[in-house]
Amino acid sequence: MSGFGKVYLIGAGPGDPGLLTLRGKEIIEKADVVVYDRLVSPAILGFCNPKAKMVDVGKMPTHHKVKQSEINKLLVQFAGEFPGGVIARLKGGDPFVFGRGGEEALELVAAGVEFEVVPGITSAISVPAYAGIPVSHRGIATSFHIITGHEKLDERTLASSLQTRDERDVNLSLDFETLAKCPGTLIFLMGIANMDFIAKRLMECGKDPKTPLAFIEKGTTPYQRTVTATLETAGETIIRENVTAPAITIMGGVVELGKSLAWKKNLPLSGKRLVVTRAAKQASGISARLTALGAEVIETPMIETRDVIPAKAGISFADFSSLANFDILAFTSTNGVESFFKQLLASGNDIRILAGKKIASVGKITEKKLLEYGIRCDYVPEDHTGEGLGKLLAALNPIPQSTEGATSYPIPRILLLQGNLADDTLLKLLPQATRWVVYETLPVSELPEWKREAVASADAVVFASTSAVENFVKLMPQSTAGATPCLKATNGSDPIPQTSFCIGRMTEAAACKHGFNTVTSDETTMDSLVKKIVDYYSQKS
Ligand code: SAH
Repeated sequence: MSGFGKVYLIGAGPGDPGLLTLRGKEIIEKADVVVYDRLVSPAILGFCNPKAKMVDVGKMPTHHKVKQSEINKLLVQFAGEFPGGVIARLKGGDPFVFGRGGEEALELVAAGVEFEVVPGITSAISVPAYAGIPVSHRGIATSFHIITGHEKLDERTLASSLQTRDERDVNLSLDFETLAKCPGTLIFLMGIANMDFIAKRLMECGKDPKTPLAFIEKGTTPYQRTVTATLETAGETIIRENVTAPAITIMGGVVELGKSLAWKKNLPLSGKRLVVTRAAKQASGISARLTALGAEVIETPMIETRDVIPAKAGISFADFSSLANFDILAFTSTNGVESFFKQLLASGNDIRILAGKKIASVGKITEKKLLEYGIRCDYVPEDHTGEGLGKLLAALNPIPQSTEGATSYPIPRILLLQGNLADDTLLKLLPQATRWVVYETLPVSELPEWKREAVASADAVVFASTSAVENFVKLMPQSTAGATPCLKATNGSDPIPQTSFCIGRMTEAAACKHGFNTVTSDETTMDSLVKKIVDYYSQKS
């Protein structure tokens, strides 16, 4: 092993997290460091190893946050700081398509750092595809050309290669004569600011002013927008429609196909960024539904679970040799199953220690989790509640035991494997049972910077408990106005109260107290909440 970590130059795709490659996901899930750009979506950052060092080198359109030369050096530096480690360099689209990945790779080669390139789906092709525009089409375009609409030329090139003052102003040295003659589709990246100039030069060089053209803004994301024009109306259309970066410009006959092929529907929650504050495992249900309705969901759980290390916790004492004293092990959550088996293995035991024991589960999900560990459940209540499980176990016939030839019928000895917040339902119904706390649930104490930024630009927050509200307010910086955790307080001194969607009146009251504009579901179910969110935005638009 060299004294360096390995650097992966990974393309994150154009925005839709579903367009990240399997290889890319595999690497970022285990990376020690993730160095990422502005265009990488929060949903993709959410896949990263939560323990990874997250480094934002994002470039804002107006000012470069971290210079390219510094990024190159940073990668070598991290490779040195994490020998044998994984350094993920995560970029929008494909790392080698106007992504400066080549420059970073050259620096790594020079420093003797091993690297791998994980190609990504480039915006140049996928963004038109999401707008229903194929970049090539039989009979219309037999080639396509991907061109930068913005260069950063050094002084010497500027002086020697640019002929006109205009060209120097826009800092661009494209061969417009050749481009104008190209029969294929022209795709410009980073070209919005210079498009007026580009269009004029193409027309001067003979390109048909009526050439159809489309600007596709924030393609593949919930904010995608397509604006069409022609070469001669390009500049004025950008101003009139306020087309902003990131956007690509596509020119040619294929643009017309977009009229019939635009397949991406505008959904009820398109363009909305919603923060879901439930625990990760519970959140996925509501997150998937809100995503399917078009929203961009930022999962920001307010609680996290941690295995209890018995000696340190002082809450319970999971001494595995004393498992011999129990007949039935009862699990009430998948967390409990995971923590129990993790600790069982860590203690040097394995599942053979459970031989002959009966296993009970509160419901189907926990039952399925046990099956992953090779354990079939003996008891699962019909109604999948703690009460159901308690009643089921309480009604069990005593298990016969033979001691010295005589059969006795002691009450089954039950061990409950639960989290620290589990209520006492089971203990009340099964007074003879023992409880081991195998995991703890704690309020999240910190949000990584990238997540705080994503949350701060959200349209609304979804709360399902008062504790989630309280912790959220603690974690998010307060607005200048003081009490309101006003995430959208960006328009000067007039803060806009953040909208919160709440389940239950108690949650609503807590959110109200902290200055949220609250919208509460009619019933205390996720179905009802999702419906309320959709209704709220459909009334607003
Ligand atoms: N390596 C990237 C391109 C980086 S240059 C890739 O392969 O896609 C940045 C430019 O890419 C932006 O200015 C914009 O023109 C384009 N771009 C990237 N993501 C985009 C998106 N989601 N929608 C529209 N254009 C996008």
